[in-house]
Amino acid sequence: MTSIETQIQQQPRVPQSLLQMTEPIQDLLETASLYLHVPFCHTRCFYCDFNTFAGMLPLREPYVRALLTEIALAGQQAQHEDGRKRRSRTIFLGGGTPSLLNVNQITRILTACFQSFAVDENAEITMEANPGTLNQEQLQGIRKVGINRLSMGAQSMDAKLLKTLGRIHSPAEIVQAVRFARAAGFSSINLDFMFGLPEQTMQHWQETLKQALDLRPEHLSLYSLIVEEGTPFMDWFKEGRIIPGDEDLCADMYEYADELLRQAGYVNYEISNWALPGYHSQHNLTYWQNLPYIGMGTGAASSFANRRFSNEREPATYIKTLKSGRLPEVESEIVEHAQAMSETAFLGLRTAMGIHLPTFETRFKETFAQFVGNRLQRVEEAGLLEYEDGWLRLSDRGRLLGNEVFMRLLPE
Ligand code: SF4
Repeated sequence: MTSIETQIQQQPRVPQSLLQMTEPIQDLLETASLYLHVPFCHTRCFYCDFNTFAGMLPLREPYVRALLTEIALAGQQAQHEDGRKRRSRTIFLGGGTPSLLNVNQITRILTACFQSFAVDENAEITMEANPGTLNQEQLQGIRKVGINRLSMGAQSMDAKLLKTLGRIHSPAEIVQAVRFARAAGFSSINLDFMFGLPEQTMQHWQETLKQALDLRPEHLSLYSLIVEEGTPFMDWFKEGRIIPGDEDLCADMYEYADELLRQAGYVNYEISNWALPGYHSQHNLTYWQNLPYIGMGTGAASSFANRRFSNEREPATYIKTLKSGRLPEVESEIVEHAQAMSETAFLGLRTAMGIHLPTFETRFKETFAQFVGNRLQRVEEAGLLEYEDGWLRLSDRGRLLGNEVFMRLLPE
């Protein structure tokens, strides 16, 4: 056995850095991560069902002005009773295509966040970008104003498959965007890729992963294609014009990627996410640990102060609402205590770390074992769970069964 094989075999599945709770849960529950949605795209990709709009680029400036108003109003609403600003550990500009905004607009959005929230000095500040919309000057500009993590929708390294998806960029532009980002000083880059695409073979996938690893991104998100209602892909699927990869091929592609990335030093810390040690996404962990977040912009969702709420989805209506000085909230529900427990457990079990049992008990004033009752023993006996240093997580067998374990374990 070579030394690298020995190292891999000895490597724990979850590194210590991920098994340490960075702060007491009561402090984390007092924070709010910020998500800012930018709903514009040049054109719509054929598979996309996100709340995004093509042909609306002239609305960018009025939209940014509305977003600034929302940030100020949301900041006021989220203040503590004694008037202190709400602390934020992460900011995420997502979309849509935030890289369609200019540096001035991004600067104003970040400044508004810093004015209305107490943003940590070392906060993780991510921006999503489409490789077809980036240039060196813009990347230098956004790095300078505080964006310290870049997340790019690369999707494939195969030119033909990118066309099939309706992407506006080429594989060469992905490579160039990463080079520009490195030159601009980005030391934390995520690349998104998709598998199970129509006519994508195992060989295409292997080649994409090889080329992706040559770029040495700190983080990779790999998603299998889901054909969503209301997309051109769904119409073409129904007409028999496209056939996505079947379940077996997708499972093989996932396993191949997991093994390859593990050998390359990445940790699979959530079902679809791999990171080099220390580069897991703090913002995404906010969602998976069921911590508070405030979403702003069209269609953005929030989970804050025991409430889940979401915004108006359509840009013109969103802008009009904020012009009149009102928050654009359109849907809201109270999150009951038991629901919060169930969701925290479900989300935690999707991660490689699992659920931190002492934290769960401190947070909900009840142990996890009390919460799930005698279901726990049955699932344990089936070998679907494992424990390590206070963490409870799915065993390898449990990970294979995924949703079935959740159904067996969690109260309805
Ligand atoms: S660039 Fe992203 S958000 Fe925009 S249409 Fe394509 S997949 Fe959807």
